[in-house]
Amino acid sequence: MSEELNPFEIAQKQLDAAAAIMQLEPALHELLRWPIRELHVTLPVRMDDGSSEIFHGYRVQYNDSRGPTKGGLRFHPHETIDTVRALAAWMTWKTAVMDIPLGGGKGGIICNPKVMSPGELERLSRAYIRQVGRILGEDMDVPAPDVYTTPQIMAWMMDEYAFMRGHNVPGVITGKPLPLGGSAGRGDATARGGMYCVREAAKLLNLATAGATMAIQGFGNAGQYAATLGPELLGLRIAAVSDSQGGVYNPAGLSPAALIAYKQSTGSLAGFPEGDAITNAELLELDVDILAPAALENQITAENAARIKAKVIAELANGPTTPDADAVLYGGGHYVIPDFLCNAGGVTVSYFEQVQNAYGYYWKEAQVHELLDEKMATAFHAVAQTADDYKIDNRMAAYVVAVGRVAEACKLRGWV
Ligand code: NAD
Repeated sequence: MSEELNPFEIAQKQLDAAAAIMQLEPALHELLRWPIRELHVTLPVRMDDGSSEIFHGYRVQYNDSRGPTKGGLRFHPHETIDTVRALAAWMTWKTAVMDIPLGGGKGGIICNPKVMSPGELERLSRAYIRQVGRILGEDMDVPAPDVYTTPQIMAWMMDEYAFMRGHNVPGVITGKPLPLGGSAGRGDATARGGMYCVREAAKLLNLATAGATMAIQGFGNAGQYAATLGPELLGLRIAAVSDSQGGVYNPAGLSPAALIAYKQSTGSLAGFPEGDAITNAELLELDVDILAPAALENQITAENAARIKAKVIAELANGPTTPDADAVLYGGGHYVIPDFLCNAGGVTVSYFEQVQNAYGYYWKEAQVHELLDEKMATAFHAVAQTADDYKIDNRMAAYVVAVGRVAEACKLRGWV
């Protein structure tokens, strides 16, 4: 039988495995297998040539027992409701493992932003808020950027929401540009949090990070900042990077600044002169110390897991590893820092952004870094300790910590 690659079925399977370890009571387990509510929307948008195009979008609010739902918005041509459901579930576990007072949600629009003009993207973003705005709010559900959405898109959405409510509501969305109430340190927060986790993992594994090699799949927000911060914070050497067009490999080390400049000028990494061209599949199997998947789901599967060589897998992307691959990696002694822990820096600084919006006073970047570091290190060690106590892999340990907290909140509210 071929491996299941539907992200939501994978998310449910992971929860089922954790529920068995925790001996979660059946009603609670069933409640946590499903989103609490979801909204499907159809969005007519006037295109630049005068025609109208009809788009479809979603917002899923998975569980709000610990606080307002929170989670990014994706613009992607292959977006599906099941991907959004999975991402919303993982957001629920992510806010819980970080112990921040939020639930989990996610949204998406099926579209190809690469072929849309800024005007078309703005009209699509505003149309989405006109439909979904009725279930958003700083105390209800707070979106943020994700794949192919940007601070500019967050600004248009916040503005449209302000018109609906009749007054400014900066806390309705995070990842905003700084002049509109964004937080210092939000831009690189996902990668920074991931690098703090790598630092803690290296301590446990007695791995010297200075000069250790890292390969990064995906060169957007998470991937580019990881390429810069890995060397800056930990002394890592960037051996390979890739984007949707292909990748580049140079075991002697690639210059992050040169890679970013090249991608900015040509639109992709393909043809970067200071290394050898490699495919995304080859990048995953390189002999490096650290592998950071920072693109999309289902990259490490039963098919390629046995060929992965990296000692540490730092999952900046959501859902890059399938359950069958997890078993192979754990059996092979690889140290996986699971997605909803490793990439939780983004939502953590988004939460800081909400706090700053609520009291109208803004922190310095150094303060944000310090608070993020403390939160990431605490969550990392809670998961590592649980993995040790239960003799389970880190993903299951993260589930045990997170599901335990969400389950407790559901029970205290009297839901089950
Ligand atoms: P982004 O849109 O900024 O970048 C995505 C990158 O992935 C691009 O470089 C793109 O070329 C590349 N890509 C797309 N398809 C690919 C493929 N098949 N192979 C290789 N590369 C491919 O997105 P992002 O915000 O960096 O998000 C990347 C991952 O990190 C996603 O899984 C996202 O859910 C996760 N994440 C992001 C944040 C955040 O704050 N931005 C927070 C948590 C998790």
